[in-house]
Formats: sequence, structure tokens, C-alpha cells
Amino acid sequence: MPEVIQTQVAVIGAGPGGYGCAFMCADLGLQTVLIDVEKNPGGTCLYRGCIPTKALLHISHVISNALEAEKFGVHFQKPKLDIDEIRKNVRGVVEHLTGGLGQLTKLRNIHYIQGRASFLDSNTLEVFLMDGRELRINAEYTVISAGSRPALFGQPIDSPDIMNSNTAVNIEEIPERLLVIGGGYIGLELGTVYATLGSEVTLVELTDGLLPGVDRDLVRPLEKHLEKILHQIHLKTLVKQLKPQKKGIAVELEGAEIKKPQQIFDKVLVSVGRKPNSSGLGLKNTNVSVDEKGFIRVDEQRRTTDPCIFAIGDVAGGMMLAHKATHEGRTVAEVISGKNVAFEPQAIPAIVFTDPEIAWCGLTEEQARAKNIPIQITKFPWSASGRAMTMFRGEGITKMITHAETKQILGFGIAGANAGELIGEATLAIEMGATPEDIDLTIHPHPTLNETIMETAGALLGRSTHLYRKPQRKE
Ligand SMILES: Cc1cc2nc3c(=O)[nH]c(=O)nc-3n(C[C@H](O)[C@H](O)[C@H](O)COP(=O)(O)OP(=O)(O)OC[C@H]3O[C@@H](n4cnc5c(N)ncnc54)[C@H](O)[C@@H]3O)c2cc1C
Repeated sequence: MPEVIQTQVAVIGAGPGGYGCAFMCADLGLQTVLIDVEKNPGGTCLYRGCIPTKALLHISHVISNALEAEKFGVHFQKPKLDIDEIRKNVRGVVEHLTGGLGQLTKLRNIHYIQGRASFLDSNTLEVFLMDGRELRINAEYTVISAGSRPALFGQPIDSPDIMNSNTAVNIEEIPERLLVIGGGYIGLELGTVYATLGSEVTLVELTDGLLPGVDRDLVRPLEKHLEKILHQIHLKTLVKQLKPQKKGIAVELEGAEIKKPQQIFDKVLVSVGRKPNSSGLGLKNTNVSVDEKGFIRVDEQRRTTDPCIFAIGDVAGGMMLAHKATHEGRTVAEVISGKNVAFEPQAIPAIVFTDPEIAWCGLTEEQARAKNIPIQITKFPWSASGRAMTMFRGEGITKMITHAETKQILGFGIAGANAGELIGEATLAIEMGATPEDIDLTIHPHPTLNETIMETAGALLGRSTHLYRKPQRKE
């Protein structure tokens, strides 16, 4: 008979949702078991997602900044790349951070189990340890934070030349010709990395624009940059077939602008979305239900249709982002500890870490218009920002979406260098119900890009210092 562990809370999956939840449970005095197949917590975000991509994008930004320096008279030589060294350093960042999470798990007295868990019934988990042994966990509550995986392109094709985000972040070589399928944020971030490291990158996207769902005016500055660094971008284009060859992949493309439908690429990166990891958890042995796409159904407290099981993060749908998963996890810990709370954010920020970056929070203009909300759009061009111009990055834009009648701030969008570092202020403003006056009257340090948020609020009120508006005469 396998060993049985009794606990108040068992958390399946130690990504940002799972470890965020387990840490908060422990902080609230709950006896907690955290289970993941990896040696340390981290999940997709640390091992194969946010962290390795951002380390690679940092390297890529250093290279493009050096190239861009030519426009103000500084000339560097072409960089020499040591791919093994780059891979080792990126791995080093991942190991540092996941090792740190391992230590925090121990310090909090969380019982960490390296293994794969599935339900035998609503309160019992079967865990297969990595060494082949088996455990049983009896938990009052279980939190599922099993994450997601890359969606496949058609039937699985077994070829080392077809990559997904899991394999692409572990850079082995720089392919001469790379095809990226999918113009979402993962395709654009990884496409940017490979293009700056030297690949000739072709990108195809099925819809009529990159980053579907993001406001077009925010995407435009990025499009201009991508046109310079990518070999070709094909919109409204379908990839009909991928056929592995002795060397490379034969690709069949279909689209109005495609002049050469049959092309050979050295490697193909498939980034066509992500699927929830809800199968293989033994959910049929519980009362948990999933929707037609496999996402676990949850209420506003993230409780599933089985009262003692919660689900958070990517597996529970919504915005598939690390910080959203963590906040859900922390909410669930509070719910289990008896607090009457729910996951009800006013705004969740999202960032595309390309160059320029795009960041937004709250409602986008597109979403507000689709909901027929009367809105007013106010924009501040970065060509009027001292800080942006000192960085030679005047192409950016800060945009505020307010309710046309009440002037309530509904959303913010920012495109430009370091936009991701700016969106926190906008998110805080929406979360706290700040008015445009609150932002305009807050003294922002000069010269910073944050001033563009203040100037946008000021522009709505006719009080922006660096935008001219004809004075209104007093009668
Ligand atoms: C290339 C890429 C870049 C990204 N960049 C960003 C970014 O910049 N910012 C951002 O916010 N988000 C980013 N994301 C998304 C982010 O990684 C996810 O939203 C986040 O990791 C979700 O957290 P999670 O806890 O739901 O699941 P995950 O992080 O996926 O963790 C789930 C964990 O559960 C484990 N698991 C699954 N099933 C079992 C089982 N049966 N038993 C035991 N363990 C199990 C898995 O091994 C995994 O470790 C990126 C994703 C990718 C792929």
C-alpha cells in the first residue's frame, strides 16, 4: 500500500499560480503540499516562458540598441555570438530563480513533492514520483494549477526542425531561414530574438493583423520596426502543410500576397496558441467540469464545480499570464483560510516585450467599442516627451480610454521603449479608481517616460504642458 500523506491543502503544479497559492496558504498557517514534475517550483513561466524569453530579449535589445546607435553617431562592430555561452547564461538565470523558489518553499515548511498527480476521488490524489514510487495524498482542498502547453499545428510531426516555444527558448543553433507561424506575442517575441541573432525570419499570420485583439494604433510602431528586422511578414496567410525534408521543412503557404507557395525553411517555429493541461488529471473521478476548449470551469472565487477543488492560472482560462495566475492563487489561499474574498481585478496588465514594447491594461479601445461604451480617446505622442527624445525613441505613444460622460478611466495603452515598466502606474490608477485629475495633479519626475501618463491625463483636461491646445477664452 503506498504511503498516505494527510494535508489541508494540496496544490497540483508549481508555476506562478501554484507556488503563489502554496506560499500564501503557508503564510496563512495552512498545512500545504505542493506537487510538480520539476525539481523546483517555477512552471512554464520560469523554465520555458516569461523568464528565458525575457533574458533572450534582453540580449536581443542590446544588439539592436548597438545597431540603432548609428543614428546618433556611435558605430559598433558586428557582434560575435557565442550561442553556447548565451544558452548557459539564460539557463543560469532560470536556475538562480527556480533555486530561490525552492528555498522559499523549504523556509515556509511546504511539503514539496516532485511527481505527477491525478485524482482518485475529490479528496485523494495519486502521485507518481520521478523515481517510480507512488504516494497518496489526502487533502481537504486541492488547487489545480496545471498550466498549459503549446497547441499543435495539425497532426504532431516528429522533426527536430519543427520547434514550439518550449524548444525554441533553448537555443541550440541559429537557423539560416526560420518560419514563424503565428503573429501573437510568443511568435513576435521569439521571432525578434532569432532575427536579431541572425536568422532570416519569415512570419505568417492567419488574420489581417499582428497581435489580434490589441489596438491597431499601438501595434503600428512595432510593425514599422518588425518590417526592418524581419525578412517578410505575410498576413491573411494560411500554412497548408509542413513536410520534413532531409534538410529543413518544406512549407506550403496560401494567401493573396504569396508569390511562392512552396518554400523550404531550415526550421519552423509553431506558435499558434496554448491548450490547458486539464486532461490526465483524473478529473472524471471528481465533479470538476471543463468547457468545450478544456479549460476548467470556475466561479469568481476560483472554485470549480466540485466544492473542495479550486483551479487557477492558465488551466482555468482567461488571460494566460503569470501575474493573473499568481493573484488567483493568492485569492484561493484566502478563500480556503475562511476569508470572504473573490478574484475581481479592475484591470489586468499585459505586455508584449518586443522592441518597441506594447503594454495595456483595463479595456482596450476595440473592446470598449465592441461593448458600445461611449468613450473618449486621449493620446500623447512621445515625440513631445523629453525623456523619449533623449533616448532617440520618439515613435512611442501613450493612450488613455475614458468614459465619454463620466470621465472614468477604463483603460490605458502604451507603445514604446520600456512601455512594460510604465503600465504598472496605469493599472494602479484604474484599480484605485483614480480620476484623470488625480494623475494630472500627481507630480511625476522629469525627465521620465512616466510623465507621458501624466501628460495624457492632462491632455484630456486641456492642461497638458507639452501639447498645445488653443486657449478657451473667458467671456
Ligand atoms: C514563451 C512564453 C513566454 C511567456 N511570457 C510571459 C510573460 O512575459 N509574462 C507573463 O505574464 N506570462 C508569460 N507567459 C505565460 C505564463 O508562462 C503563463 O501564463 C504562466 O506560467 C501560467 O502559470 P500557471 O501556474 O497557470 O501554469 P504553469 O506555469 O504552466 O505551471 C504549471 C505547472 O504544473 C505542472 N503540472 C502539470 N500537470 C501536472 C500534474 N499532473 N502533476 C504535477 N505537476 C503538473 C507543470 O509541469 C508546470 O510546472 C509566457 C508563456 C510562454 C510559453
